[in-house]
Amino acid sequence: MSKTVLMVGASRGLGLGLAKQFSAEGWKVIGTVRDPSRAEALKAAGVQVEALDIADAASVEALNERLSGTELDVLYVNAGISGSRQLSVDNASDEDVGQLFVTNAIGPVRLAKRMTPRVKPDTGVIVFMTSIMGSVETGPGMGMPLYGASKAALNHLTRTFVAELGEDSGLTVISMHPGWVKTDMGGEEAPLDIETSCRGMVEQVTRASGQGGHRYIDYQGQPLPW
Ligand code: NDP
Repeated sequence: MSKTVLMVGASRGLGLGLAKQFSAEGWKVIGTVRDPSRAEALKAAGVQVEALDIADAASVEALNERLSGTELDVLYVNAGISGSRQLSVDNASDEDVGQLFVTNAIGPVRLAKRMTPRVKPDTGVIVFMTSIMGSVETGPGMGMPLYGASKAALNHLTRTFVAELGEDSGLTVISMHPGWVKTDMGGEEAPLDIETSCRGMVEQVTRASGQGGHRYIDYQGQPLPW
């Protein structure tokens, strides 16, 4: 029987690339989008499309109810925003900060907490798409400080989430850095294409199943400093 992945934030960029890669490898893919009327590419790849705004707790709850009875091999929380590249402590509005932290840190972990009972114990994998910019050790100085801080917050909350799961949960949790990739967010100057990054990430996720624990790695499986 084919494995099932829930790809959160699958409308474009890495989420779409991952959905296509999992689908090409024979997985059943459920992909979430904010606007289901713009999901042609996903549907063409045979993906089951579901509506979700990760920043909206009611939307998360509604998705959770719609997926009642669905068993997931992988929950992949990819959705994220960068905000404007110039956003800094000096110029960000409270609204900018709220949007970044709710979308990139609170929303992903809130969703994972609701969906964890749907993930298969022992072999299930939960992936949070973070960034090397979220590393407190290496992120500062790379630019986009508020985006980096929101991913550092995601990493922090993920470690709390893992601690709450407990040592004998059997689940594997990955904080994944995709590399610097040519997408709307990554920009044209990024060195990696979507296909290379997504092939690598799918390989890492498949390999991690059953291993348990929590790791912060990149698309090639290289461990990153917290
Ligand atoms: P894109 O901007 O190309 O795509 C972002 C995706 O997130 C879209 O599918 C978007 O949906 C979705 N999304 C944004 N906000 C929400 C929301 N509130 N609810 C649901 N979905 C939402 O970015 P990338 O593909 O480049 O990035 C994907 C992930 O990888 C992000 O978490 C990003 O931080 C991370 N990342 C990317 C890097 C890169 O170099 N590209 C490097 C490091 C990390 P919609 O179409 O509706 O806007």
